[in-house]
Amino acid sequence: MIADFRSDTLTIPTREMLNSMMAARVGDDVWEEDPTVIELEKKMAAMFGMEAGLFCPSGTMANQIAIRIHTRQQDEVICDYFSHINHYEAGGPASNSQVSLKLVKTEKGILSANDIVKAINPVDVHFPRSRLVVLENTCNKGGGYSYSLDGLRKIREISIQKDLTIHIDGARIFNATTLQGYSPLEIGGICDSISICLSKGLGCPVGTVLVFKDKEQLFLAKRVRKAFGGGMRQAGYLAAAGLFALENNIARLEKDHRRAKQIGEIISGQGFCEELKEVETNIVLFKSDISSSELIQKLKDKGILVAGMGDEWIRFVTYLGIEDDHIQYFSEVASKIQN
Ligand SMILES: *Cc1c(COP(=O)(O)O)cnc(C)c1O
Repeated sequence: MIADFRSDTLTIPTREMLNSMMAARVGDDVWEEDPTVIELEKKMAAMFGMEAGLFCPSGTMANQIAIRIHTRQQDEVICDYFSHINHYEAGGPASNSQVSLKLVKTEKGILSANDIVKAINPVDVHFPRSRLVVLENTCNKGGGYSYSLDGLRKIREISIQKDLTIHIDGARIFNATTLQGYSPLEIGGICDSISICLSKGLGCPVGTVLVFKDKEQLFLAKRVRKAFGGGMRQAGYLAAAGLFALENNIARLEKDHRRAKQIGEIISGQGFCEELKEVETNIVLFKSDISSSELIQKLKDKGILVAGMGDEWIRFVTYLGIEDDHIQYFSEVASKIQN
């Protein structure tokens, strides 16, 4: 058996999702003539109480467009050290928008209002202008942790007082709503834009929707997307998968969380586990007492695929391709691993 826990981007569309994609009505979306893309953008925006949505090829592009439309050159973006825009977007904020990142170090990748207040620069020619806050909800590299509604509201108050814009990297926003019990509307109420990945927990092959509060920004965002090479033609086939996922794949996320917890319990019972981060959503991070590359190889030899996160941490992710028998199989393999 192969149990592939490396990433929730490994989802393969189900037969039902493929059927809905094949049946999509499409047109040229650069000409704004693809009815399925328009439907997805409108639906996602409305869900989050936002005025406009833009379908993008990737979460990275959606984040980069958001940074571009919310800043100008020499501005600074406040974010957690663990954030995707810092680690995994190939230096995009610097090259695409000519902005710097103010990195805040936290335990879990979750910023407090006070962290943000401390990170704001004085108005002084020596410093870049603090302009945008990016919150990653849930935070991947932190361990899948999420913001509380109370925490988000306090950050919103600060952002209003200090004239900062808030973008949420919501690659896994529905994992956050599932755990925290708040609604997409409540999230939309405390920020200016959100990028929502379809290709992770939602199980679609491609795509992210960027939603934003102010519809005046749609034209600018579209132009930036064009410059980034992200204007797509008959993208309705992909958008149809997103519409299918919004109907069918959100309620099941709690199963991913339950299975991730089970993985955590299995790991914590093993001799090789040195440190396990508390499991809250679909991500499990732990350190082993042997080198991570060695343990990853030992697991791989038995058909258990996992990812290294940096030198020390090992990551398991659950998603719609992971079923109870994969967890059972991992449990059997783990108990036989010799250090
Ligand atoms: C996956 C991910 C993204 C976007 O990734 P793409 O591969 O570009 O779609 C953005 N932010 C976070 C936190 C992610 O995990």
